[in-house]
Amino acid sequence: MKLEQQAARSNAPLLLTPGPLTTSESVKAVMMVDHGTWDDEYKKMTQHIRRQLLELASAEASDFSAVLLQGSGTYGVEATLETIPKDSSATLLIAINGAYGQRMSEIADRIGVKHLDLIFDETEPVDLDKVSDFVTVHPEITHFAVVHGETTTGILNPIETLIPAMVDRNIVTIVDAMSTFGGIPINVNQLNVDYLISSSNKCVQGVPGFSFVIANVHQLTQTAGNARSLSLDLYDQWRCFEDHDGKWRFTSPTHVVYAFEQALLELKQEGGVAKRYQRYSENEARLRQRMVAAGFTPILTPTVQSPVITSFKYPSESFRFRDFYLYLKERGFIIYPGKVSKMNSFRIGNIGEIYPTDIDRLVDLIQAYVSEPVQS
Ligand SMILES: *Cc1c(COP(=O)(O)O)cnc(C)c1O
Repeated sequence: MKLEQQAARSNAPLLLTPGPLTTSESVKAVMMVDHGTWDDEYKKMTQHIRRQLLELASAEASDFSAVLLQGSGTYGVEATLETIPKDSSATLLIAINGAYGQRMSEIADRIGVKHLDLIFDETEPVDLDKVSDFVTVHPEITHFAVVHGETTTGILNPIETLIPAMVDRNIVTIVDAMSTFGGIPINVNQLNVDYLISSSNKCVQGVPGFSFVIANVHQLTQTAGNARSLSLDLYDQWRCFEDHDGKWRFTSPTHVVYAFEQALLELKQEGGVAKRYQRYSENEARLRQRMVAAGFTPILTPTVQSPVITSFKYPSESFRFRDFYLYLKERGFIIYPGKVSKMNSFRIGNIGEIYPTDIDRLVDLIQAYVSEPVQS
């Protein structure tokens, strides 16, 4: 990290969480100006963001379109599931190995999309053979949804094989790439995925406020009128951007959009997704290696571990996460509780404006804590 950057950093703790995450001072700074939504400059910037998202996704502009949507990532997921017909003509298969896959199932229940859930262990990736076998015995399946990086554990699901296999069977595909897009290279053209969803506050390193969907326009075109929600109608949202030169439908989070444009610029300056992936991977490798040396056990095997977030088991029966959390918070780091259902765990995020030197400072503190627990 540049020295000026370090000096400019406020005294607020670093967020070692998977979004909201620690953003740069320069991303935060652009939010100090108020902007109107009808402004031509703002509409132009919105169009610029949409084009850049396609570039980041390696998505051909003739086949794909980026649709931005107010709200957190879940809003983008729900709007995408709203594109699915709510009658017996469609059945959605959801491959689940964590809380975010489970959330898609809950959304499908709420909005009345017929669905089948294929559940995997939280510490195992979604398995292509099992999904293929399942689809073979359920020819009624028309749509398939999976999470790329399950933030529940930090596991990475093999979308590179899963999605093309589903596309071969003429199944419409949906990927929740919330916690990976911008931080792990994804080639939408190659995958030929129909809907890829992410949000402003994850690996692009913007602040929370909107989600976005990279949608196959040939697919999206066929979904007019499918949504039963007005504000979560992805088709209508898309048409507004297309028909009105980048105008958002309803009030948009202007400050957040400006911050996102700055975050995209900084992603480019860092060297693009490949370079950011490298930095996150270095953070993760350093974290895991040093935590193991300090006596902690990661939940995942390294081959399925993403660079996004790492889960560790509690080191002992007497370990108190709350004390540990407060100890680290007082010393400048916010970590994350665990979400794995079958064991006690906690998580440490590697994404955001975080560098290996930050990881070193963190693990030094953790080492001191485990060798002599400090009461906060
Ligand atoms: C963050 C995240 C979401 C969206 O969560 P929100 O709280 O709605 O932003 C969805 N899926 C995954 C995998 C995530 O990491």
